[in-house]
Amino acid sequence: MHLAYDVIVVGSGFSAIAVTCNLIEQLPASAKVAVVGDDPGFGRGTAYRTELYLHRLNVPAGRMSLLPHQPDDFVDWLKSHGRPLQAGDFASRSDYGLYVRDTLARLLRKRDGRCRVDFIKAKAAGCVERYSSTLAFHLGNGDEIAGKNVVLCLGVGNATLPVAPDGVPPLLRSRIVENPWRLSWLRRVAPSDAVCILGSGLTMIDQVLALRAHGHAGKIDVLSRRGLAPLGHAWKPPAPLPIDVETLPDTISGILKTLRGKSRTVADWRAVMDGLRPATQALWQRLSSKERARFLRHALPWWNIHRHRVAPDVFDRFEKLVLDGTVRFHAGFLKSLGAEEGRLVASYRVRATREIAEIRADWLVNCTGMERAGISHSPLLKEMSRFELIVPDPLGLGIQVDAASEVIAPSRISPARLFAVGALTAGQFWEITAVPDIRVQAKVVVEEIVSRG
Ligand SMILES: Cc1cc2nc3c(=O)[nH]c(=O)nc-3n(C[C@H](O)[C@H](O)[C@H](O)COP(=O)(O)OP(=O)(O)OC[C@H]3O[C@@H](n4cnc5c(N)ncnc54)[C@H](O)[C@@H]3O)c2cc1C
Repeated sequence: MHLAYDVIVVGSGFSAIAVTCNLIEQLPASAKVAVVGDDPGFGRGTAYRTELYLHRLNVPAGRMSLLPHQPDDFVDWLKSHGRPLQAGDFASRSDYGLYVRDTLARLLRKRDGRCRVDFIKAKAAGCVERYSSTLAFHLGNGDEIAGKNVVLCLGVGNATLPVAPDGVPPLLRSRIVENPWRLSWLRRVAPSDAVCILGSGLTMIDQVLALRAHGHAGKIDVLSRRGLAPLGHAWKPPAPLPIDVETLPDTISGILKTLRGKSRTVADWRAVMDGLRPATQALWQRLSSKERARFLRHALPWWNIHRHRVAPDVFDRFEKLVLDGTVRFHAGFLKSLGAEEGRLVASYRVRATREIAEIRADWLVNCTGMERAGISHSPLLKEMSRFELIVPDPLGLGIQVDAASEVIAPSRISPARLFAVGALTAGQFWEITAVPDIRVQAKVVVEEIVSRG
């Protein structure tokens, strides 16, 4: 079957739904939209699919409205669903997933004379340019759909294990959890099992708390290159210190020095990070490629722990486990995965030394995260790159787009317009993985599509 659309949205996570909501609000009734996604819970994606109430948002509820022009929308939704949280509180991610789904349903239900939206549950497997000025996608279900405008909302894939588990016998491999978002593995963990977690970011904290909620009481060893864990939001957040990007130096070392200096002038360093937040995209765009690469090489782990903070009570619960010795951090580089006497053995080189150390555990969980959005996780993107419909970002931060999020691909001939939304555009914007940024980007992209007719 071949179907033609004005706009095709590829993806079924938050970005796709944010784009779709804006399309419903802005397109005329005559327009036809297709949303193609392989995720059973449209709108939830990896982030908001969790069923565990303890998995919380790391952005206060007051900044999580799906619609930037209605900032109280999420807080109002929470109240009307029996969760009277304030704008500064941190809601659960499962509630957020329901809110996103409800918001879309509300728009689909209410709008008189709205455009047609077809939700197609399938994977987009390939893409070609058509002479009819469209881009056509082959779908996993055998259909083909073509669109004059396409918005790629593919998110980022799960990180793969940093080393192959070659030394682990097949029977023990089921104890290596490569995708911790399939929470079913938690039911197989015995209370006293030793767990080794690779990676020490937000996903690690989620998994530690989920283990506890499932009755796990054993030791948890966390291995990451620097052994740094996310910091917490303050119970009483300080007022952000406004930062004028134009006054900052052009180099990463100069910027860090200036920010450290500013931190010494305030009672809480979070004031500086929060002041930088609205200016981060502009700051990134001012940096040369050399400085961006330097940031990724040297400053990224520090940036992540200060910038992507957890809710204060989540932080307190996690810190207790660190202080009582339940969670132990190790800084080093994983060298190999093996097994001995029925247990998994992770060998690593201790940071800043030549010493090789080992962690022995019953379970190994890959939480090495998703901070970079390359294209290797996606067969569709790899094929589009091969056909020069997209060009990968030189630093591995998704694909090349311009300031309007339109894909830059000089070899493409079709006049069909191709955009990307979300982490795939990190090379252009850097700060584009969280809701407060994506919702604005989604609105701007749709305005651009509508304005060009
Ligand atoms: C655990 C976690 C917690 C987070 N917490 C927060 C938070 O508290 N606040 C915040 O602001 N942000 C948070 N984030 C950031 C989060 O990434 C964004 O909020 C948002 O969910 C990203 O959505 P997305 O649609 O861009 O990507 P994703 O959610 O990854 O969705 C991409 C979708 O595309 C689909 N897809 C991929 N390839 C194809 C294909 N070929 N064909 C069809 N469909 C395809 C996938 O199945 C998936 O459904 C969190 C992220 C994670 C992982």
